[in-house]
This record gives sequence, C-alpha cells and structure tokens, in this order.
Amino acid sequence: MQEFKAVLSFFFCPKICSSLFLHISQAPRLPKAGETIHGQKFFIGFGGKGANQCVQAARLGAKTAMVGKVGKDFFGNNYIQNFKDNGVYTASMTQSMIVIAGENAIVIVAGANLLLGDEELQRAQATLETAKVLVCQLEISPHASLQALWMAQKSNVKTIFNPAPAIPDLHADFYKASDIFCCNESEAELLTGCPVATVEDAGRVGLELLNRGCVSVIVTLGPQGCVVLQSTDPTPKHIPTTKVTSVDTTGAGDSFIGALAFYISHYPTMPLEEMARRANLIAAVSVQTTGTQTSYPFKKDLPAELF
Ligand code: ATP
Repeated sequence: MQEFKAVLSFFFCPKICSSLFLHISQAPRLPKAGETIHGQKFFIGFGGKGANQCVQAARLGAKTAMVGKVGKDFFGNNYIQNFKDNGVYTASMTQSMIVIAGENAIVIVAGANLLLGDEELQRAQATLETAKVLVCQLEISPHASLQALWMAQKSNVKTIFNPAPAIPDLHADFYKASDIFCCNESEAELLTGCPVATVEDAGRVGLELLNRGCVSVIVTLGPQGCVVLQSTDPTPKHIPTTKVTSVDTTGAGDSFIGALAFYISHYPTMPLEEMARRANLIAAVSVQTTGTQTSYPFKKDLPAELF
C-alpha cells in the first residue's frame, strides 16, 4: 500500500463513461430551444468536478488519489489513463461492465449512483486514513459522500466538501462533516434561499452556512475572489483576486478547490485566508485559457511565491 500524504478526491460517474467527457463547442450565443447554430470550435475534454479538483491538486505537486467508478470500455480506459498522465494514484478506481440484456436493451442499473457505495468506500479506507485531505462533491450519491466525510473525520483527515451539483435539501450532517464547506454563489443561494450578488450577500449566506455546523465556509465569487468565514472568527473576510482577461471560466471553481486542497496538505499551518488568496490566484490563471483541465496550471508555470 502506497502512503498518501495529500489529497483524496472522490468522484463517481453518474451514468456511463461518456458523461465524464465534456463536449465543448464555442458559439457566439446560446441556441434557443429547437434552434441549430454554427459553433466555431469543437473539442472534448476530461471532466467531472472531483476529477478536475484532483488533477489541479496533482499539477501543483500534491500526491493525489481518486476513488471512483467508470465503465469498462474505451472511455473508461482513457479516463483512467488521464489520471495516470497527471500523476494521480488510480488503484481505488474501479471499472464495471455495462450490462446488456436482451435485444437492444441496455440496462444501466436502477440508480447508477448507487454503484459507488459502501464496498468501494471500505476498500478505499486504508488509503483514506493516510491522506491529509479528503475532497468530496455531490457527484456520487449523498449517502456515499457523507460516509466518506465521516470516515475522514474519524481519521483526523481534513475534509473539504463542495456541495455541487447543489441539492436544496442537503442533509444537516453535511455541514457538521465539513472542515471547509466551499460553494459558489449559486450553490450558496440554493442552500440558503437568499440571493448572492455582492460580497456582503456572500458574507451573510456564509454566516448562515457556518451556523449550520461547519468549521469554516468559503463562498467563491468569480472575478470578485471569495469570502472566508471561520467558526473561530465568524466575521466574513473578503479575499479579492487579481483582475485578469478571462477567456473561459469553466472549471474555475474546481481549480480553486484543487489548489485549496494542495495548500492544506502541504502547508497545514498556513492561515485559511492566505490559502484562499493563493487559490484565487491559481484559479485566475485557469480562466485565461479555454477548456477545463487543459487550462489548469502546473507548479512549474507559477510564481515561486505561491509555494
Ligand atoms: P465553475 O462552475 O465554472 O467551475 P464556479 O462558479 O464554481 O466556477 P467561481 O466562483 O466562478 O466558481 O470561481 C471560482 C474562483 O475562480 C473564484 O473564487 C476566483 O478565484 C476565480 N475566478 C473565477 N472567475 C474569475 C475571473 N473572471 N477573474 C479572476 N478570477 C476568477
């Protein structure tokens, strides 16, 4: 068993493998319902929030492991290869067959979300116990996410929970299981029912989320940076970011979280606000190029003062 001193990120493919790939086309505007318009470019990229976060942390120099499930096919193989190419430990990734029953009937299980469950979590337990950080999202079943967060807390592994894709009726235990509850404006809005347009709004909703039991809360605010709140000092702190020319902001939130996980694992005594300031700067790099993982910077391309 290899030892992990870094980030363990859980990811699960909700349907079949092809859903892990982003099919991206740039177009002058969104098509209306039923309309076809010309796109200028087309490309395919790897995706999934957990995968993006894990890859960003790895590119900054963190030892990372991914726990997840993909299909046993061409797409699944490529997906795992992408992790390997980024130096991510993949022994906890499993591949399962898509069951084909009868003529033209593809049976992909009732609730494919259940595919990553207790068994995979138990198998990943030893890896998890040696990690410094666990990053969880809601791309796996909420039950599996919560179990993973609890397992981590029991082993004194720091937890970052990213409630995305957001669900309005998030179980109260998620807050208590989060050392850092990190969400964007729209997720914060959905969870609290309060609109988030300004830094002040983010501070207000952040405080409400903090009061639900998290150790700390970060609300990311796109070009405005983020707001950090901690139970030890619940006054919202605005952490602005640098002004850059943004080309494509897709995946900026995942770049931010991956960077945050990296700082927690490598600089555990660094104040959270400083980690957030640096994560802002790394995510700001990611918005200056197209694509998601393709836009994530490597340590060698970043200023030395970020390390
Ligand atoms: P996505 O869903 O596209 O991954 P998100 O909505 O989850 O992103 P944002 O709040 O938009 O996350 O952005 C996350 C972080 O990325 C911000 O806190 C900030 O540090 C950085 N960022 C995003 N957009 C910009 C921008 N235009 N200029 C500079 N930094 C940005």
